[in-house]
Amino acid sequence: MMSSIFILYTGGTFGMKKTKKGLVPTQWNEIINYLPAFKNQNYFDSFNQIDFTYEALEPIVDSSDMNPESWNKIAEIIYKNYDYYHGFIIIHGTDTLAYTASALSFMFNNLDKPIVLTGSQLPIFHPRTDGIVNLSNAIYIAGYQSFEIDCIPEVCICFNDDVLRGNRSIKVSTNDFEGFSSPNFENLAYLEQNITLNNNLIYSGYKEKFGLQPKFSDNVVNVTLFPGYNPSALISIVKNQKIEGIVLKTFGAGNLPKNSQWQELIKACEKNKTIIFATTQCPNGRIEIGQYASSETLQSNCVVSGKDITSEAALTKLMWVIGNYPYEERHDILSQNTRGEMT
Ligand code: ASP
Repeated sequence: MMSSIFILYTGGTFGMKKTKKGLVPTQWNEIINYLPAFKNQNYFDSFNQIDFTYEALEPIVDSSDMNPESWNKIAEIIYKNYDYYHGFIIIHGTDTLAYTASALSFMFNNLDKPIVLTGSQLPIFHPRTDGIVNLSNAIYIAGYQSFEIDCIPEVCICFNDDVLRGNRSIKVSTNDFEGFSSPNFENLAYLEQNITLNNNLIYSGYKEKFGLQPKFSDNVVNVTLFPGYNPSALISIVKNQKIEGIVLKTFGAGNLPKNSQWQELIKACEKNKTIIFATTQCPNGRIEIGQYASSETLQSNCVVSGKDITSEAALTKLMWVIGNYPYEERHDILSQNTRGEMT
């Protein structure tokens, strides 16, 4: 069956070339000559049944330059083209790929098509590049019907032999071709010699109309506890109403030092309508407020448990919730599993 795929190139190592200053992204029309999937489309099994459309983000960037404005640009490009394609691929730098994947998952309501993010650890100009395999795999997931694969109607990440739910993923290596992992959630699919889908985990697609909710607040901070951390600077910015939300990466299962400074922080947050989205700094596992007496300070209605959410999904969800909902509704939405981001 014919599939149509829209590919958005945003930059990243995938398309980078060496310069005196280091690696920088190059233009798509140079890259495309290195991609056998497009150059020899007829040679590859079923690739001749795919219609590709390409666009490049303006400007193309190292993904360390991605921000909410870029997430909005990407989302709007997809939203504008949504009705005309079966699937979407976003080629993205790996450094902040998990943030963009998480942000997109919250922005899109009622998604019923695959949006696949991919990238690579070595540029496609390198003889040992992983970019060709990663992109080819992404083509299989986005162009599922040409390969007789079931649809994965989710924002997902295709990297090495993994298809991961985007808002469950983290970058785990700067070097390994297995660059991403989803420590609290099984793979949506495995891209081995055979492609195997974990059908019981995949969202079945929504019946309501697809929509876009693009606003993000940047009035947030991401705070990782460490032994001896003094929260006085944090208390002062809360009291001065400079922030509306804190992702607090607690110890283990949701633990904090038992001292008056942390109690003062919670009181300041309650008074100034600042939400604390509490997560764990362990990559694997969840927080359970109440399991240890050391989590007692977090028993407050300004604190929401992030359960087993990743740090990337917690931050983007908090930015998105503050950007779109009044204070009274934020607690509820943060504690709900809105896009499969937490269990
Ligand atoms: N610095 C690069 C980027 O995120 C790293 C990569 O793509 O692997 O754009």
